[in-house]
Amino acid sequence: MATRTALNNIDLDTVEMTLDIMKYVINRITATDPFLGEIQSEEELFNLVGETITEEGIGGEIALDKWKNILSKACTTIDHPRHLAFVPAAPSRAAVLFDLVVSASCIHGAYWLEGAGGIFAENQAMKWLVSLTGLPEGAFGVFTSGGTAANLSAIVTAREAWRSNKLENQTKKGMILTSVGAHSSIKAMAKVTDAEVILVETEEQMTQQELEQKWAELPSEIKERIFAVVATGGTTNAGIIDDLKGVAKFCQEKKLWFHVDAAYGGGALAADSVRHLFNGIEEADSITIDPHKWLFSPYDCGAVIYKKPELAREAHAQHASYLKIFDDPRAQGFNPSDYQIQLTRRVRGLPLWYSLAMHGTQVYKNAIERGIELAQIAAKKIEQRENLELVREPGLSCVLFRRKGWSAEEYKLWTYENIRKNFAFVTPTQWQSNGKTESVARFCFINPDTTESDIDKILDSME
Ligand SMILES: *Cc1c(COP(=O)(O)O)cnc(C)c1O
Repeated sequence: MATRTALNNIDLDTVEMTLDIMKYVINRITATDPFLGEIQSEEELFNLVGETITEEGIGGEIALDKWKNILSKACTTIDHPRHLAFVPAAPSRAAVLFDLVVSASCIHGAYWLEGAGGIFAENQAMKWLVSLTGLPEGAFGVFTSGGTAANLSAIVTAREAWRSNKLENQTKKGMILTSVGAHSSIKAMAKVTDAEVILVETEEQMTQQELEQKWAELPSEIKERIFAVVATGGTTNAGIIDDLKGVAKFCQEKKLWFHVDAAYGGGALAADSVRHLFNGIEEADSITIDPHKWLFSPYDCGAVIYKKPELAREAHAQHASYLKIFDDPRAQGFNPSDYQIQLTRRVRGLPLWYSLAMHGTQVYKNAIERGIELAQIAAKKIEQRENLELVREPGLSCVLFRRKGWSAEEYKLWTYENIRKNFAFVTPTQWQSNGKTESVARFCFINPDTTESDIDKILDSME
């Protein structure tokens, strides 16, 4: 006699587990001053949690308790209003809840054939993103697992376009021109594609002149291997936007692919107060934007946008015989797998779609403007304090500043102390200028619920 598997029994335990988990989720997304998180070693965690995977199972209640009381607390609450380190996140409640719907719906987001409704909704959100860039008619994009995957998808597309342009490029190892301010994923993804990177030596804004200068220094056999320039639309460290108009002109003259990595800064395309800083982005061949950074989506959600999506399709489309079963024209539509590196994919743009549909784009604009405003407010407060000074004017929502007299070690101690007190997560960074590297303090504002009093309290902790 066949035994029924217990995997999906609907019994009292399952009902209870369902309610417990929903309660946990509701508590998590409504907490206004959540636990910040406490870093623990693997050994400490094992001592507290023990072995959880057993033949009999430990039961949903015990496993959830271990998660709730121990494991979740050993993860940093990135959306905490006093988490201003790295690039934080602050997913909207609507987006988080709809992420649960995405999980519950089990949608295969690779092909229109199976995911039409989900992909349709993702594409409406994408249409808004594309409209922010000012790219010409025909430009379109796709949601990826993050900025790294978006940058890789764009680099592969650029490299394939370069190789298909000229027979001799097919055997050449390609090269990418970018700046010191570019994100580490550019170098990492160049490695994945076996391309080399040439750096313009500046962490400040990369200009057309600097590119021309670098170009003039290069021998012609190197020039012939360069297929793309990667400009940054909001550096991760300092929120600096390269001279996109100038880079665009340089790329046009030299016939190079123009990629803008706006993984962090891209959300600010919606902010009228800074939109002009991105002028020139409308000339890009491809753009990376991370909705899981400044567009209030839960992890993970990136996006890559192409001026000519057909070039991405040529680079990425996978052709499988088992897909050629449907002649119904309604099954032919936008296949997200054709435009980026991943096949089976979560419809990870859906939480953004639902939240945008619910709130409208104006609410998004205001929430992004608030991050920029918080950076300006923090800068003023820093200037008013005797023992603090700005390193530079804020870039987008990033503020770099010094505690006069502090060594690298003192910045570290201050960071640890604030985490230990469950008070704030603010980390120092390295800043390069005039050939000198120094440790400085850094804020990055994303969460619109961070208050002025949060900023005051953090600055007080540096007295
Ligand atoms: C964060 C970031 C990335 C990497 O994005 P992930 O989503 O972490 O993969 C790439 N570029 C820039 C400019 C970033 O800020």
